[in-house]
Amino acid sequence: MSLAIPERVLLGPGPSDVPARVLEALGRPTIGHLDPVFLQLMDAIRGKLQQVFQTRNEMTLAISGTGSAGMETMIANLVEPGDRFLVGVNGVFGGRMADTAERCGAVVEKIEIPWGRVFTKEQIIEAVDAFKPDHVALVHAETSTGAHQPLEGIGAAVRERGALLLVDCVTSLGGAPVLIDEWAIDAAYSGTQKCLSCPPGLSPVTFSPRAMEKLDGRKSKVQSWYLDLTMLRNYWGDSRAYHHTAPINMLYALDESLDIVLEEGLDPRFARHRSMHKLLRDGLAELGINYVSQEGHGLPMLNAVSIPDSTDDAEVRKALLADYGIEIGAGLGAFKGKAWRIGLMGHSATRRNVELVLSALKHILSA
Ligand SMILES: *Cc1c(COP(=O)(O)O)cnc(C)c1O
Repeated sequence: MSLAIPERVLLGPGPSDVPARVLEALGRPTIGHLDPVFLQLMDAIRGKLQQVFQTRNEMTLAISGTGSAGMETMIANLVEPGDRFLVGVNGVFGGRMADTAERCGAVVEKIEIPWGRVFTKEQIIEAVDAFKPDHVALVHAETSTGAHQPLEGIGAAVRERGALLLVDCVTSLGGAPVLIDEWAIDAAYSGTQKCLSCPPGLSPVTFSPRAMEKLDGRKSKVQSWYLDLTMLRNYWGDSRAYHHTAPINMLYALDESLDIVLEEGLDPRFARHRSMHKLLRDGLAELGINYVSQEGHGLPMLNAVSIPDSTDDAEVRKALLADYGIEIGAGLGAFKGKAWRIGLMGHSATRRNVELVLSALKHILSA
């Protein structure tokens, strides 16, 4: 007998609640990955991803695998052994990019600032001038700290200095503006289970023409066979050459979730995330709970807050799950045992959920 899966309210750092329409899409008939209807669907997904990423980049597609597969795709394809890779580390996810670049043979330089804070444009430019990198990598939405890295103007400065700007947009895409072309971002990756509210399993990525030139100019083969864009682009492009079997039903789900995003409209969706964030922030303030991210730079979709003194971290999260069916996230890395991460991502960002988690927390904390 299979295990009964409970219904939860997903208010953690992802996955977020998945709308019924998206779950239904998963159940459509599986067809072949070279079926003309499926190829049409891939083209449609590319067009919708371009809208959500706000880009004209031809090389926009969904990688088979979660957000981390998108990260590896970006780095393995663009970084050649010996390349100089500058990465901003102010949480868990910048550290992962540094690790991945090192595995690809890059000379890695980290700019580190305390967790929860964001980089100024001046800090980045200074580091670029000192290190002279081929790549500059930043995390737009640091899910481990709730910090929202401003990106305006950084891409142009990085480009002027001859480097590529690479960005982790896993948590921001679909919940806050991600302006790939306007911000001159050369490559970015995301994931389906955060603000797109699709199950985990695909990673939307986009590469600028400059990034593709870098790929085409490589002297060595891409270190990963599975994630090699020089082959993947033939399947997503006109020749439709088989590389690996696309996760067909997951792509149905992604297509449906992108429809939901675009039907709501990007700006109204971002406004909804901001207003639900404010509602939660005000309610948490009444409970005496404070944010760990830098003032004025908090993410709308991920609220990282200090665990109140003399509160048992695990007990509270256990009670939320057992008594209310609510999942929130524990602290990660340096914030383990110190912070909670309350996500209001995509379909989960509703007034009902905000009121629910606030009243549940109030009840548990006072008991
Ligand atoms: C969730 C997340 C990832 C990793 O994505 P997975 O889907 O778990 O592989 C990477 N970066 C950030 C900022 C994330 O929030």
